[in-house]
Amino acid sequence: MRPEIENAQTLVVKIGSSLLLKNEALNHQWLAAMATDLAGYHAAGKKLIIVTSGAVSLGYAALGFARTGLTRDQMSLEQSQAAAAAGQIELAQGWRAALAEQGLAAAQILLTAEDTEQRRRYLNARQTLTTLMTHGAVPVINENDTVATQELRYGDNDRLAARVAAMVSADCLILLSDIDGLYDADPTQHKDANFIDHVSHIDAHIEAMAGGTGSSHGSGGMVTKLQAAEIAQRAGCHMVLASGRDNAPLSALANGARSTVFMAHDNPHSARAAWIAGGLQPGGSLHLDAGAVAALRAGKSLLPVGLTGLDGQFERGDCVALLDADGQEIGRGLSAYASEEAKRMVGLSSDAVHDTLGYRGRDEMVHRDDMVLHAAQSEKGQ
Ligand code: GLU
Repeated sequence: MRPEIENAQTLVVKIGSSLLLKNEALNHQWLAAMATDLAGYHAAGKKLIIVTSGAVSLGYAALGFARTGLTRDQMSLEQSQAAAAAGQIELAQGWRAALAEQGLAAAQILLTAEDTEQRRRYLNARQTLTTLMTHGAVPVINENDTVATQELRYGDNDRLAARVAAMVSADCLILLSDIDGLYDADPTQHKDANFIDHVSHIDAHIEAMAGGTGSSHGSGGMVTKLQAAEIAQRAGCHMVLASGRDNAPLSALANGARSTVFMAHDNPHSARAAWIAGGLQPGGSLHLDAGAVAALRAGKSLLPVGLTGLDGQFERGDCVALLDADGQEIGRGLSAYASEEAKRMVGLSSDAVHDTLGYRGRDEMVHRDDMVLHAAQSEKGQ
């Protein structure tokens, strides 16, 4: 098996409609074999997320559109959003049953592009996904097609899966498709097309190969697969593109079936740290007491009790500078509270925070996973 899969602690598997459906119904045999393979990974201690398509196709059948003579391509936006609503319930039920058969709990999450791109929502989605995986559940994700408006939709689950992988700091994303990887020309047109085993950087040369392989591969085609690979690589996540056509594709990969791997440029933790430290403009600053600074240096989260004050106006999920008692910046992090709420929480214990806010929010002001500390300054004169 590829070490990128074998060594992954958090694995996202993206499954396209054409693999999951047979004659416009769920292919239960395929699903059962997939659940068996996933259970094997779960037992080996990997955290798993499934990104699955199929809602629109299942809903097209469930709503009887074919009988009215309407083809898939002729569906209006409203009709395909209605189809997604009708099909999603069946898709979720199929996954729930297949995973339950293996003793695994499934948890449905429907995301829009905004949920993965706006930091305010992103922190929530990340936290929920992490909590589910910590409790051994398998999140089953699709795009929330029913409410996403045209201009805000991903429309393809390739990029959605890559954003999810980046959001949870996954180390490997497997895109199962109806093609076994990247070729330097369209293999259906050119018998001598060469298979590409791995890609370090996506450059114009690689992009030209994707253009050459046409758009018959799923809703996104090879172009969206490369876009997904770029998102994953930048987030420190490997992406493996492999065929999911036959039953048990994960077993096939373990037994040496070929695939193309797009190598991560970094590891997920340093990629996230670089994003927090340098990629975001701080919207304000939090002043910390000496106890909080010591706790942070010892790897703890920042609690409201360690706050002595704050400056600036920021929203939940915004980047803030963390300042010590001398006003020196010791690091940066994503604030779990907006500045208006944070002002009321300065110096309060967690219990007092809940009484003051009137609801149960997060215990941490800045979670340690959402924080980067600058290297401690050496002593004076050295
Ligand atoms: N979200 C769509 C569905 O469930 C599929 C998008 C895609 O095919 O990538 O039907």
